[in-house]
Amino acid sequence: MRKRIVILGSTGSIGTQALEVIQKHPDSFDIETITAYNNAELLIQQAYKFVPENVVIVNKEKYNFVKEALSKLPIKVHSGEESLSQVVKSPSADIILSAMVGYSGLLPTINAIKAGKTIALANKETLVIAGELIRALTKEFNVKIYPIDSEHSAIFQCLEGESQNTVEKIYLTASGGPFRGKDLKYIKNIKPKDALNHPNWCMGNKVTIDSASLMNKGLEAIEAKWLFNLLPEQIEVIVHPQSIIHSIVQFQDGSMKAQMSLPDMRLPILYALSYPLRLKTDFPRFSFLNYPQLTFEKPDLEVFRNLSLAFNVMRQGGNMPCALNASNEVAVNAFFANVLIF
Ligand code: MG
Repeated sequence: MRKRIVILGSTGSIGTQALEVIQKHPDSFDIETITAYNNAELLIQQAYKFVPENVVIVNKEKYNFVKEALSKLPIKVHSGEESLSQVVKSPSADIILSAMVGYSGLLPTINAIKAGKTIALANKETLVIAGELIRALTKEFNVKIYPIDSEHSAIFQCLEGESQNTVEKIYLTASGGPFRGKDLKYIKNIKPKDALNHPNWCMGNKVTIDSASLMNKGLEAIEAKWLFNLLPEQIEVIVHPQSIIHSIVQFQDGSMKAQMSLPDMRLPILYALSYPLRLKTDFPRFSFLNYPQLTFEKPDLEVFRNLSLAFNVMRQGGNMPCALNASNEVAVNAFFANVLIF
């Protein structure tokens, strides 16, 4: 049976890659709804290609433009934030892929959980802001969250078949980003274009900036705490510049499981949608001979202070992670606007 997918944020980096993997597996998936905040042109192109039941353009000023463009197709066009909360409740939808940017992903994800939908979660901020609430709601409505963040997908995959076993700790791997090995003096002079130049991963702008400052890894530690029910002291960040090992689980007997592949977001996206199955792909395969050395180092907490900041707020709990996330969203926007240095 084909799974019917709602993509919240179909024009972003995760959304477009999700459509790419879905297009290659027409026997497994149908697109029920695609949504975008502002990118009407790409949303229209995607609607022509996939002919979903619903399209949501959140920015109401663009509603007429999208409605007009799709008038010849059997597609319902909606607009406004409230439409997002409606489309996630559709009785025929199987999986809600939450790939909106930042805080905006929270409310539609909560509504999807309340409607009992399986969540494929790319929006880590949802768990950073409201992890405790989301965890309680998933229990109450008996909902599963499958992570799309590559590190969390790795941990999820390592935990398959281990439900009776105790996890001692997890290692979240970090590439170190474009400024690995640099000092504070260097960091002060960087511009958005330098920070957007990630060595390994192709991702959206916000997460790429967060990766350069290592705030992303801090947010991921908080995300992991809520996804896998861990204590802060069970989470360790290790820099692994090649981004081949996507994370590691260490069990109470001392044995470790790691998940490996070339860095390609299409893999965790597909696994979250196809779980528990692994579908055939033609993605490039990892070759040991191309990577004769996989290396590991400690993160530099003097230069990348955001990482310790995130661990501090995780230990404090309460509203602190939410405040951290809000400050970070403001800071990232100010950095893009060139009114804040790195
Ligand atoms: Mg990640």
